[in-house]
Amino acid sequence: MESLKRKIETEGVGVGTEVVKVDMFLNHKIDVQLAVEMGQAFHEAFKDDQVDAILTVEASGIITGMTTAMAFGNIPVIFAKKGERRNIGNDVYTAEVYSFTHQKSNIIRVSRNYLKAGMRVLIIDDFLANGAAINGLISIVEEAGATLVGAGVCIEKGWQPGGDHLRGKGVKLVSLAICDRIEDGKIICRD
Ligand code: 5GP
Repeated sequence: MESLKRKIETEGVGVGTEVVKVDMFLNHKIDVQLAVEMGQAFHEAFKDDQVDAILTVEASGIITGMTTAMAFGNIPVIFAKKGERRNIGNDVYTAEVYSFTHQKSNIIRVSRNYLKAGMRVLIIDDFLANGAAINGLISIVEEAGATLVGAGVCIEKGWQPGGDHLRGKGVKLVSLAICDRIEDGKIICRD
């Protein structure tokens, strides 16, 4: 998606050689118009896949999860919750996910009331790095007996293995921008 790539390259900041900082439009301050366009792009990619619901993980995935759901005509968004929560109850699917940014493991939880067998689920997230978050969500989809339609990510970091691993497993993966490297703080996206 050209507008996203240009935005990453002009406004994003590379931290060291590994971390892509886009909190000026995606992870802290939000460019809502861009988020709407990303939702439309995911809809275009998955519109023939009979998607019943979007599954994402709090917090940043919710933004594009919602705009994608609206592009599909207001289908539900279910977001996995992180950490211990009293108000979600015990009737949950869980997965352990190692966080690349926080360098620790989190348990993510999705209520069994909302994710049901037979549902056709599209996973959406902001970033794909090593794939831990998406693999955790996939294991929850499988445990629920739901069907994984595919996964959409705003930004794939091409130097980390998550994207190639998912493609190798046969997952329909749509990355709106793939970053190839960071050079002196500048992020270089693939054409
Ligand atoms: P993975 O689980 O694929 O290793 O990493 C994806 C998750 O980690 C995303 O949900 C995202 O929140 C976070 N993440 C990974 N790499 C980056 C990065 O370079 N920048 C930001 N802002 N978040 C990242």
